[in-house]
Amino acid sequence: MKYFSLGPVEMFPHTLKVAKKQVPYFRTSEFSEMMLESEKLLKKCINAEDDDRVVFLTASGTAAMEATVFNIFTTYDKLLVIDGGTFGHRFVQICETYKIAHDVISLKFGECLTPEKLDEYRGNNYTGLLVNIHETSTGQLYNIKMLSEFCKSKNMYFVVDAISSFLADECNFSKYGIDAAILSSQKGLALGPGMSFIILSQKVVNKRIAKNEPLSLYFNFNDYIKNQKNGQTPYTPAVRIAYELNDMLRYIVYKEGGVEVRLNNIQSDVNEFRKRICVCNAEIPDYPLSYAVTPLLFNKRGINAEDVYMKMRYEHGITLTPCGGELKEIMVRVGHIGCHTHSDYELLLNALEKVIGKCTN
Ligand SMILES: *Cc1c(COP(=O)(O)O)cnc(C)c1O
Repeated sequence: MKYFSLGPVEMFPHTLKVAKKQVPYFRTSEFSEMMLESEKLLKKCINAEDDDRVVFLTASGTAAMEATVFNIFTTYDKLLVIDGGTFGHRFVQICETYKIAHDVISLKFGECLTPEKLDEYRGNNYTGLLVNIHETSTGQLYNIKMLSEFCKSKNMYFVVDAISSFLADECNFSKYGIDAAILSSQKGLALGPGMSFIILSQKVVNKRIAKNEPLSLYFNFNDYIKNQKNGQTPYTPAVRIAYELNDMLRYIVYKEGGVEVRLNNIQSDVNEFRKRICVCNAEIPDYPLSYAVTPLLFNKRGINAEDVYMKMRYEHGITLTPCGGELKEIMVRVGHIGCHTHSDYELLLNALEKVIGKCTN
């Protein structure tokens, strides 16, 4: 089976080698040194400063989204949330759960987040913005520069779920004045699921997190920040994933030549794929797309997207990412994150051509 999925994704051979080793005991200086190195390398990959902090959380991405919100904000805040699909909607649900006042910019499927749309909210007072910079359910990539400038001009905390964007699109913590960037192990990093990593600005740590008293023991970021100063976590982390992470970060920084090389490789593969898929019976949406995914739309071609997913998986051994809800029958997503060779792309394109056929007009 080949995975062109969106998490878990096709893993790299060097990760699989790490994954099959004995999980070591971790309250040791060796583990601490490794975690401190991972912090350094992760900050390098996302361009964070030495004084920024990293929380290594053993939890899925949603838990990291939720914990980030309640460690930074309280019921005294008012937030602006971009809701352009499943993951944006999750941030709305988190605000509702914690009774944090919020306005929602709701985007219908296919609708772009334009400067005009954002400007409608400029007159209101908000303390923070919550956005999934790549809304994975549709593939739309929002304009980070526009959102960053909006937050700066209104003195708002800028919280970016970059879970499905990191290592596919440019993700620059310092350049865009991000206060919290949320990453997860099973997406661009192509590791097993189970850990999330939250990069926090010095400002949000000092002015917010250090002063808040969230009603949670396990998810209190202050404990993680304090422990990570010594390369440790307050509770048992997913030790295996921590080793996979260190191996992957070392691979990107020291073997591949840095995060720019990784981005160039994935982006050139994606551009080539999008150029070649054009001859097939599928449409690519016209909103700005993340390089993590190519959504294929079939509604105008009379093809059922669920059938495409099933045939690709059970007749060709290739797992794409199906859609849920209203998109279930009209769209499938080709995930580009993870380990894909050029011959994997040949297999993918040949199989897609067989399943959906060539475009006749
Ligand atoms: C995958 C993903 C998550 C995390 O989902 P979990 O299933 O909780 O790990 C969060 N946000 C985005 C944008 C994602 O793509």
